[in-house]
Amino acid sequence: MESIASRLQTTRQRIHRAYSAAGRGEPDAETLLAVSKTQPATAVREALAAGQHAFGENYVQEALAKIEALAELRPQLVWHLIGPLQSNKTRPVAEAFDWVHSVDRLKIAQRLAEQRPAWLPPLNICLQVNVDGGSSKSGVAPGEALALARAVADLPGERLRLRGLMSIPEPVPAAAGPAAQRAPHRALRELYDALRAHGLALDTLSMGMSADLEAAIAEGATLVRVGTAVFGERTARAVQQAR
Ligand SMILES: *Cc1c(COP(=O)(O)O)cnc(C)c1O
Repeated sequence: MESIASRLQTTRQRIHRAYSAAGRGEPDAETLLAVSKTQPATAVREALAAGQHAFGENYVQEALAKIEALAELRPQLVWHLIGPLQSNKTRPVAEAFDWVHSVDRLKIAQRLAEQRPAWLPPLNICLQVNVDGGSSKSGVAPGEALALARAVADLPGERLRLRGLMSIPEPVPAAAGPAAQRAPHRALRELYDALRAHGLALDTLSMGMSADLEAAIAEGATLVRVGTAVFGERTARAVQQAR
């Protein structure tokens, strides 16, 4: 089996090449978010030993157990919640994470702002946008993103820091061609540009996964969320257990 260190190296090379191909210079330490959902704490340790500090988790309970198991390494780790967040789970998330990418309504942001402990730095927030319009999907509608962004940026107390936008579009197979793979990423980037033009100080565009990180970087992604390419396939059993 290929080691996590070697998979990480391959993934970093892909990111580097995509940045060069897009004429974007060098990626930085924040560009790769290693998605460790369903992976054991030992896998996170292994990735950390190979120089990876930022990890993304989907399931709150699983993540909290892992963060706890790795408590002695906490200063070296940056934990991002990228999965759905229900309002009854906001408190432990506000207390344990550094970032939340999946904020799609004001109520969740208000709760996170109220519950973020005063001794921690502000919680970094991305708004999840439903770029391809599936009605069953989470994410704010693109037409409502500006109003939500303003409301989140204006929350009192400075316990949140609005950083950018995130999306999880329907995967477009590589066989459909690069233009088709880029389309949903372009939609999010255009929205991001529009929000910045309205004066919102955003610096994070969270889009692209193992299968399409090149397309996302070509469209301006500043953070790609990569699970399979870093840790290997997730087994159905592991996914079942993590939920
Ligand atoms: C699982 C997941 C990823 C990573 O997906 P891979 O295809 O394994 O790279 C990225 N973002 C979100 C929101 C996810 O749930």
